[in-house]
Amino acid sequence: MSELAVHLFPCLTDNYGVLVHDPESGETAVVDAPDEAAIKRAVAETGWTPTQVWVTHHHWDHTQAIPALKDAYGATVVGPRQEAAMIVDLDLKVGDGDSVQFAGATVRVIGTPGHTLGQVAYWLPDAALAFTGDTLFAMGCGRVFEGTPEMMWTSLDRLAATLPAETRIYCGHEYTLANAKFAVTVDPDNAALAERLEAVAAIRAQGKPTLPTTMAEERLTNPFLRAGDEALRAHLGMADAADWEVFAEVRRRKDHF
Ligand code: ZN
Ligand code: FE
Repeated sequence: MSELAVHLFPCLTDNYGVLVHDPESGETAVVDAPDEAAIKRAVAETGWTPTQVWVTHHHWDHTQAIPALKDAYGATVVGPRQEAAMIVDLDLKVGDGDSVQFAGATVRVIGTPGHTLGQVAYWLPDAALAFTGDTLFAMGCGRVFEGTPEMMWTSLDRLAATLPAETRIYCGHEYTLANAKFAVTVDPDNAALAERLEAVAAIRAQGKPTLPTTMAEERLTNPFLRAGDEALRAHLGMADAADWEVFAEVRRRKDHF
């Protein structure tokens, strides 16, 4: 594996598509399949022909272009075994602890249930890259649709414990500014967070993407990873609550923000 190149591009309203490319082997992975036209445009612009698709979860805004990608490029579609009944055309069904080979690199699959029950993240330790779908967002996390808050907390806490600080993280949506505006309401004394809110506001004012984020930044500024933080707990009046309960309260507030 040579140094992997990553191309990020907007899809639909606020989704992201990602191409990951190894110049040496020519292999290219598409992360999720939100938008046929946008992905085909990105392929034409880069000249990188998809050989794999890594699907994070079954929601339509992550899967609808799968048949088109198989048709156009014959790419191998990798996706969560637990959601195989809801995703058409999975070639390779994976779950927590599995790994996939891509351009001579190991792609590790981490089960991150909560937003959906079978959701997975893809992590390339050697490239310090991770794709977290709708589980971990920059300063946010996905809504808990199918799982429980406790399950979602366990998934996020596991990502925080597993991914090294320098890992560059791409997620499924550009929600960063809205997430930051909410985050300061539950973590008002966090100087790194206040600073990051200003930085992402400036980036968005220029219409640029705020991704990738890093695990180091998320540990410092993402309230959904900071259920153990004393100041945040004190602010919520939950000094003695379990971490998952603090997470659940932060998620509840975000749902009504
Ligand atoms: Zn989703
Ligand atoms: Fe989504």
